[in-house]
Amino acid sequence: MPFEATVLTLYPDMFPGFLGESLSGRALARGDWSLETVQIRDFATSKHRNVDDTPAGGGAGMVLRADILAAAIDSVAPDSRPRLLMSPRGRPLTQARVRELAAGEGVVVVCGRFEGVDQRVIDSRGLEEVSVGDYVLSGGEPAALVLLDAVVRVLPGVMGNPDSGMHESFENGLLEYPHYTRPQVFEGVEIPAVLVSGNHAAIGKWRHEEAVKLTSERRPDLLGRPAAVQPVTK
Ligand code: SAH
Repeated sequence: MPFEATVLTLYPDMFPGFLGESLSGRALARGDWSLETVQIRDFATSKHRNVDDTPAGGGAGMVLRADILAAAIDSVAPDSRPRLLMSPRGRPLTQARVRELAAGEGVVVVCGRFEGVDQRVIDSRGLEEVSVGDYVLSGGEPAALVLLDAVVRVLPGVMGNPDSGMHESFENGLLEYPHYTRPQVFEGVEIPAVLVSGNHAAIGKWRHEEAVKLTSERRPDLLGRPAAVQPVTK
């Protein structure tokens, strides 16, 4: 069964968006994964089909109504797919979680808007809150596209060279080593000699050392974290 993504949103036209291009777009066209959107507004009952209301307790902004969002979620046939809510309060998305999601049957993704969604829906429908970073977007749609991009690229057969994913940043708990390609000399700067030596053991060692150096400088927090996949030994 191909990986099935269902996205609940007030802006279905934002999908597939950039996922319709390049590798993910070709995989979508081939049927390696599927994407369905559910318009939350279709479940509004009032004359003007309002979906939001003022926050209980007062304060700025509006909140997505519990009854409408719950009806939209319940319209998706119950299955074993995880139900995610894109949310800045969620657990930050990691490559390890991306791998887990890609190994499953698919995802149901709820995109928030306004100040967010009524807490009772999060609780009663068992939504797992997922964040794409410590900043606030105006809606869950770009976050959902980011999550789906990361998941789809690791689905079997989507990436041109399956081996190329294994060395990537986060996969082995490290940021990736620096890359070089032609020309041999660029603005007077040469490619590091070891990379053109043909000595694969030395190249592997150099890359690992560079990855460790970069990671300890920029993201020391990653060093204690479990890897997304088993380290590739070559
Ligand atoms: N009032 C909320 C922010 C609401 S932003 C708060 O302070 O926590 C509106 C919607 O955008 C959210 O419901 C969520 O779906 C989405 N969103 C915003 N930032 C996000 C992030 N970093 N990761 C995932 N989704 C995000």
